[in-house]
Amino acid sequence: NNLKKYFPICSGVFSRVTGAVKAVDDISFTIKKGEIYGLVGESGCGKSTTGRTILNLLKPTYGSVVFNGKLIFDVEKKQYLDHKEMRSLRRDMQIIFQDPGTCLDPRMNVGTIVSEGLVEHGIAKRKEAINMSRELLELCGLRGECVTKYPHEFSGGQRQRIAIARALTLAPKFIIGDEPLAALDVSIQAQVLTLMQDLKENLGLTYLFISHDLGVVKYFCDRIGVMYLGSIAEQASSESLFANPLHPYTKSLLSAVPKSNPKEKKERIILKGDVPSPANPPKGCKFHTRCPHAMPVCKETVPQMKTIETDHDVCCHLY
Ligand code: SF4
Ligand code: MG
Repeated sequence: NNLKKYFPICSGVFSRVTGAVKAVDDISFTIKKGEIYGLVGESGCGKSTTGRTILNLLKPTYGSVVFNGKLIFDVEKKQYLDHKEMRSLRRDMQIIFQDPGTCLDPRMNVGTIVSEGLVEHGIAKRKEAINMSRELLELCGLRGECVTKYPHEFSGGQRQRIAIARALTLAPKFIIGDEPLAALDVSIQAQVLTLMQDLKENLGLTYLFISHDLGVVKYFCDRIGVMYLGSIAEQASSESLFANPLHPYTKSLLSAVPKSNPKEKKERIILKGDVPSPANPPKGCKFHTRCPHAMPVCKETVPQMKTIETDHDVCCHLY
């Protein structure tokens, strides 16, 4: 609720704070149990920062997060979980990062990487934990024997499977995938996506799926939030968003997705200019500097989120 994450900009010899990068700027959304919620937008729009702030990996500037009925933090009320409570909640919430090549320790064998959490949380002793990690690796489509191997002995897709197995060790309920497919070849992406879908069904998981690839979120996600410059511009069920995009920004993004039928007529909407700096976002509607439909009111007044139809909200003065 009303989540904000600002990074201070410091300059001068005394490193005085002279401004802030508004990476996440007042966003609210709900992810239902068992759902896959997609967060999409261009790079730098605040998707990853949102994911990390939800998990309390980054200190929030403002707002609150509730997980499964439990308040993780509320900045205004100065309520935060203490270290111990946060640690136990960590087991329920995990994150998978974009590049499995850099987030797996190259000096550890796969068994140690996957079983680390079990040992650290005192769930199993090392040997038993390694056996449990065999099962997890098999669940993720790898061979149990690979526990003795090292990350460099695997392909990118296999490394992402290892990272997924590691995320599953503590039997989480909620997983954030921060562009987990972005570093993989297209054919491998489909395999990893299928794996994530199967795991979700079999283990009853809930996902926040962060991606810049609309083609992927269309098929994978139940609901989608479109982010622009730290804000959510539009939020809808996947069906509704693709059938009837409302926000001019969403329309331009969708017009860039290739159609499966090349005969289908489609007009590409090319936006003018670049994404403005999040250190100095435009006044009023943040999209007005690039919007083909901008009106005088857009330069002055911040549009509020409005529900247009069931499960379809948009933040734009046109509605
Ligand atoms: Fe465009 Fe105005 Fe809507 Fe912003 S509020 S997206 S500038 S029409
Ligand atoms: Mg990112």
